[in-house]
Amino acid sequence: MPVNYRGRWGGKVAIAAFVASLIIFSPALLPSQATPPQSSLPAPAATPPQNLPLLQVYPLPPQLERWQDSEQQGDYFDAIKPTAVGYLIWSSFPIKVYIEPPNDPADRRFQGWFKAVETAVTEWNQYLPLERVAEREVADIICLRSRPPLRATLNRQTRTFEFPTARNAEASYKLYWRGNNPSTLVHRFTLEISPNQTDAFTLATARHELGHALGIWGHSPDPADALYDTQVNNPPPISARDINTLKKIYQQQTRLGGSL
Ligand SMILES: [Zn+2]
Repeated sequence: MPVNYRGRWGGKVAIAAFVASLIIFSPALLPSQATPPQSSLPAPAATPPQNLPLLQVYPLPPQLERWQDSEQQGDYFDAIKPTAVGYLIWSSFPIKVYIEPPNDPADRRFQGWFKAVETAVTEWNQYLPLERVAEREVADIICLRSRPPLRATLNRQTRTFEFPTARNAEASYKLYWRGNNPSTLVHRFTLEISPNQTDAFTLATARHELGHALGIWGHSPDPADALYDTQVNNPPPISARDINTLKKIYQQQTRLGGSL
């Protein structure tokens, strides 16, 4: 049974290298340099569906339980908003991750993309148990090498479509029921990560989008964090503040993983 909730979060770009590649592919799709910070969540449905599992709190996964930030660098938990089913928390481990593989082993650009995404998965695996799977069908998080769709808005005055932001990635999730008697409410993420970046920026993008998929459904206001909402010239690694935030998220309530 499908659940009619979805969420989306597009990655944004503010770097010259990506602007250049966009010019090559489509002059009409230039990103706005003055893109406002993305501060609102996808609108939840007005009325929560009936008969959802109860909200519950799960035990912290061991790596997060052990995590201590000795320098107490704080977090940006205030920027993370729960969805209609609570926080986007995984409770069944390891989390299964599929990365789209190159069809042609000689495709070096695709190989570079693949290795960059693989590296990002390895980085997050220090904090939450992740497992690479070869079958897309069984994955919890699906990483695809594709340009995310550009969503046009109609300017009513000029009667033209505008593309307010160009994106190097998009994270989206769907909810569904798994099994019968009981049925468990689960989520699945799809990450569309552009093929048109250098490997270093693919790594930064994958690191950021995986953060969303692992539960950080919001953005940091600090450019030193991986979940800052705009790509920076020297992308930071996963920061203590990212993990402090992740740890707080995993202490919150969710309906995900609950059964009826
Ligand atoms: Zn983001």
